[in-house]
Amino acid sequence: MHAFTNIKKAITISDAFWNVTTEAGLANIVSRNLGDGRHQAVETGHSFVNMSSYSYLGLDSHPGILQAAADAVLNTGSLNTTVSRIRVQFDILKDAEDALADLVEAEVVTLPSCAAAAAAALPLLASGALTGGTPPRLLFDKNAHFCLNLMKPVCADETEVSTIGHNDLSALEDACKAGGPVAYVADSVYSTGGRAPIRDLLFLQERYGLFLLFDEAHGLSTLGRHGRGPVLDALDGINDRTLIITSLNKGFGASGGAVFIGRRHDRRRRELATRFGGPVTWSQRINVAGLGAIIKSVDIHRSDELHVLQERLQDNIRLFDRLVPTATAGDGLPIRFISIGDEDGTVRLAQSFLAEGFYTSAVFFPVIARGRAGLRIMIRANMTAGDIERFAAHLKDVRTVGTEAGHV
Ligand SMILES: *Cc1c(COP(=O)(O)O)cnc(C)c1O
Repeated sequence: MHAFTNIKKAITISDAFWNVTTEAGLANIVSRNLGDGRHQAVETGHSFVNMSSYSYLGLDSHPGILQAAADAVLNTGSLNTTVSRIRVQFDILKDAEDALADLVEAEVVTLPSCAAAAAAALPLLASGALTGGTPPRLLFDKNAHFCLNLMKPVCADETEVSTIGHNDLSALEDACKAGGPVAYVADSVYSTGGRAPIRDLLFLQERYGLFLLFDEAHGLSTLGRHGRGPVLDALDGINDRTLIITSLNKGFGASGGAVFIGRRHDRRRRELATRFGGPVTWSQRINVAGLGAIIKSVDIHRSDELHVLQERLQDNIRLFDRLVPTATAGDGLPIRFISIGDEDGTVRLAQSFLAEGFYTSAVFFPVIARGRAGLRIMIRANMTAGDIERFAAHLKDVRTVGTEAGHV
């Protein structure tokens, strides 16, 4: 028992975090959407800029995507098929998957979320169905996303599962040298900041045949040509030893998740996913509104508009980095962590930011190690330079006052 998960222990450790966060008024905020990452709290009428939005390109407020979602529902006349997709599917599901597949030049199967994509893809990989029948030894990066880690016990019933250090290439190479198929499970861009050494991993793939499963939840749309993400950009086309799962709820501005299961038109891989991919086969799919949104978002990804939005995001990241120094400044990723240290100071800072009109995520133990508390910030293309400047000015003010008063 508890070789891979211990939910009871996690509750014991994490409850205090959520109690403090909730009591500080930093959780359970009910808001009206004002568009472009702005909210108005229903209870207080207070407006704020969301500095914790995953919508890195601002596509969640794109009028074209919203219209496409509404049109799709009205044109289809239903929100969902009420039968397993392997038996009957609406044409719009096929259209959305074909559009995505053409964009990323891979065979694509969609699911209601990235977490469902992990639940579909990982057991298949662990079974050996994607590695010629021999189950690969599965090595998870220590910082891999929770939705990947959650599948460890299931995978361990199929093959040998272990966890290695973050970005630990030498542990990975040792495992490859020991022989037999090996698969590495990692995020391409980590939700806590930083990225995978993709080029080095591809070198191990070339040298030893290492299988790679990447979670591209933060990489898709944000990075790469036509927003295909850093993995496909580095690969220059998917191969038989690389699997990508991703969210379509974040940068992509639509809904659901996806598995890039193999080369375009690889029928066998597609059959494996749609027949044996767990949640793929059940009643929940991305609903018709989400599928309409996906088709429109693909159009945007193919157009110059995407490049413009990526450039705006990079401009905002550079402006933020100039005004707010952080450990990962200059890495081109939209996730930043402002280190504060103590928990109380961090919570008070997040509260003062909210009063100033900025929602930030205060994170502290057990989300990160004790004494390492801070604010997690996500930068978007549709933030104004003024927003970022006001944010930085407030941080500077608080820090100056805090230093004088002997805290923060
Ligand atoms: C948000 C996130 C997920 C989960 O995505 P959903 O579509 O909400 O299931 C998976 N992996 C990473 C790295 C994430 O940040």
